[in-house]
Amino acid sequence: MVSARPAVQQLPAYRPGRNPADLAREIGVERAVKLASNEVAFPPLPAVVEALAATAGETNRYPDNGAVVLTAALAERYGVDPDQVVTGCGAVMLCQQLAQSFNDPGTGIAFAWRSFEMYPLLARVAGARAVQVPLVPGRPGGPADTHDLGAMAAAVDDSTRVVFVCNPNNPTGTAVRRRELERFLDAVPADTLVVLDEAYREFVTDPEVPDGLELMRGRPNVAVLRTFSKAWGLAGLRVGYLVAEDPAVADAVRRTHVPFSVSTLAQAAAVAALASEDEVRRRCAAVTAERERLTAALRERGLDVSDSQANFVWLPVGEEAVGLAAALESRAVITRPFAGEGIRVTVGTPEEDDVFLAALDQARSTATVA
Ligand SMILES: *Cc1c(COP(=O)(O)O)cnc(C)c1O
Repeated sequence: MVSARPAVQQLPAYRPGRNPADLAREIGVERAVKLASNEVAFPPLPAVVEALAATAGETNRYPDNGAVVLTAALAERYGVDPDQVVTGCGAVMLCQQLAQSFNDPGTGIAFAWRSFEMYPLLARVAGARAVQVPLVPGRPGGPADTHDLGAMAAAVDDSTRVVFVCNPNNPTGTAVRRRELERFLDAVPADTLVVLDEAYREFVTDPEVPDGLELMRGRPNVAVLRTFSKAWGLAGLRVGYLVAEDPAVADAVRRTHVPFSVSTLAQAAAVAALASEDEVRRRCAAVTAERERLTAALRERGLDVSDSQANFVWLPVGEEAVGLAAALESRAVITRPFAGEGIRVTVGTPEEDDVFLAALDQARSTATVA
């Protein structure tokens, strides 16, 4: 009998997320609300739909493996050289490529925990050591929801090849500020690559939270990861990118690229999205305004919700997480629980968020009675 590598056998089996149409049918309601995956609630940008239609006739051909047009558009937007930019089939694939390109078996990948779920998995697949540095309270007496950059710098040793700093952090929504991040970058050895995962950068409103691309300047061991899946509304097309200060870092990541993995449609859509930046900015402003309303509504209900810099909020409900998420689901609202820790709720439309708040009130009053 064949058997997979032990590291692979130990990976969690794929569990499909709850589909809102199935859930609605199951519980007999017209519509379920999905606030589980941090997509934006807006439909695709009009220019994206046009670009997809125009490109459909070319899909008998392989995509441009170098994504030349998209790479040039990104380089121009950020004022960097195209050599510094790598596109990927979603930022998650670039995370995987980073591990493949920089981690020999037994070397370390450091990151905060709890953070993006992919980090420990890609470490295991690469045969690397996952160095998980616990989050600490961002406010006195608050839940552990914030990067401990001092502890992370201390955890980096000779064998640490890559450090991920997820800023803002998924799933807690907190962000580290300029001074502490600069101090951290100053402390990390020059032969350890620091990857600033800025999947939610477009939703940051705190001026003290730095733009990684500015912070990266003059630091050859820093790279920034971004995606078209969240603010730009292309989650279904799979396209993200890495910008590295040192072109050699970008080159190393390009070498582990799965050929043609960024599709023709994804490349065309991303170029069209970049050309619609004004509309994207308006959409992000609507999301962040709604984020503040949702945060205030949750705090009025006595929940200790920290200031989110992303398009989701974190409910630090601890042991109640799984039960509460199930209670919400039975009321047609799909959220993302993390057992024993909390629930991540994507900012939806005001109508969707009102449905969520009503379901939350019902679920909590029932729980108190029970
Ligand atoms: C969503 C997300 C990504 C990127 O996702 P892709 O859809 O693969 O581009 C990367 N990092 C974090 C922290 C995310 O939440």
